[in-house]
Amino acid sequence: MKIVAKFGGSSLAGAEVFKKVKAIVQENKPVVVVPSAPGKSHSKGHKITDLLYMCHQLASHNLNFDEVFIHIETRYKTIVEDLALKISIDQVLTEVKTSIAGGGSRDYCASRGEYINGLILAEYLGYNFVDSKDIIRIKNGHWDMEETKKLVDEKLANQLPAVVPGFYGSDSEGDIVTFSRGGSDITGSIVSNCLDADLYENWTDVSGFLVADPGIVKNPKPIHRVSYRELRELSYMGAMVLHEEAIFPVRLKQIPIHIRNTNHPEDEGTYIVPELGEKDKNLVTGIAGKKDFMTFTVEKTFLSEELGFFRRLASVFETNHISIAHIPSGMDNVSVIVAESAVAGKEKKIKEEISIYCEPDSIQTSYHMALIAVVGRKMISTKGVSAKIFTALARQGINVRMIIQGASELNIVIGVENEDFEEAIRSIYNAFYKEDKA
Ligand code: ASP
Repeated sequence: MKIVAKFGGSSLAGAEVFKKVKAIVQENKPVVVVPSAPGKSHSKGHKITDLLYMCHQLASHNLNFDEVFIHIETRYKTIVEDLALKISIDQVLTEVKTSIAGGGSRDYCASRGEYINGLILAEYLGYNFVDSKDIIRIKNGHWDMEETKKLVDEKLANQLPAVVPGFYGSDSEGDIVTFSRGGSDITGSIVSNCLDADLYENWTDVSGFLVADPGIVKNPKPIHRVSYRELRELSYMGAMVLHEEAIFPVRLKQIPIHIRNTNHPEDEGTYIVPELGEKDKNLVTGIAGKKDFMTFTVEKTFLSEELGFFRRLASVFETNHISIAHIPSGMDNVSVIVAESAVAGKEKKIKEEISIYCEPDSIQTSYHMALIAVVGRKMISTKGVSAKIFTALARQGINVRMIIQGASELNIVIGVENEDFEEAIRSIYNAFYKEDKA
């Protein structure tokens, strides 16, 4: 079985966890290991990536960054020392420091966290080191699929097993470019795609996804299997263990992702798979949500018969750089649901523009709505599920402001008052699972 394994920052924060990583690698024998930069080594500590951004910030204002850089040096040197490795990283640290002082780009500076960690990990595991700058091609902030595949075939496929640092690649000029934060997940997914891996293991500090936020529901049940599409519905609402963009490359090749806990490799974790078998389909796979949405409700007689009405309405939000979360509609009215933070101060302007472009009978706004997505592959086709959800909410005296059911038939999105958010999630959870009250 061809495995690509990515280890997150918390799995590589110090020598102790490096040892756990080595044991896992010896057992599972991944062909490629993708490391993040070291994360926080204790709760008050810092992530190396944050320190590197800080160094770059100081250097770009011509301020001395020695004090911050020392923390970076010490973290890496301690790891090398504690693992009794023979490599010297002095020279690479000096090179990095000189480049930061010499005006290295923000992306270059940030990428060095993964780069140095990759060098150390390759030495420790006895793997080859292949620099991501030589194989991951990034165009306009996104993965250039064809070019990357070509480079992987030329420069990685004959170097296996290898360590490939996460988070960055290069543009067509050869300059280093990073993905957005948490982007090592994307690197692992891209490498899995290009090498046609059988499995993408993503090792982190939790044992996979949970049915609901443990900050709201006490000891929620783990999700052992979830389909890519269910996960998209859940991650869109906020429950992130994995970078959102990491799903796309593996999905193209139908490669499953296995989220696992470096500290508890015996735990089952979560498999993210192309499609669930009948027996794995859940009524409710997950419940996730977000607060602070607002609605613009536009009324106009015969609006659904008016050609171009929805386009004109949507264009007002587009030109104001506001992405639309949902557009539930009735015969003569439509509500546009957007994040409050995106509107901030633009309400009056948006209303005026809607008036001009759409000539409605009225426009009303309301604030403080939370959206809750209840996601499950079998949910919509099973009788009584919605009844169960809404009975649970009614029993708690929770008023439902809005119900949106995606045509994909795998989720129901429910709008409630912000203040009812947590209670609503607990009620829905308890209707399908039993909350641990102990
Ligand atoms: N080190 C980067 C970050 O902290 C990327 C990653 O860890 O995936 O965002």
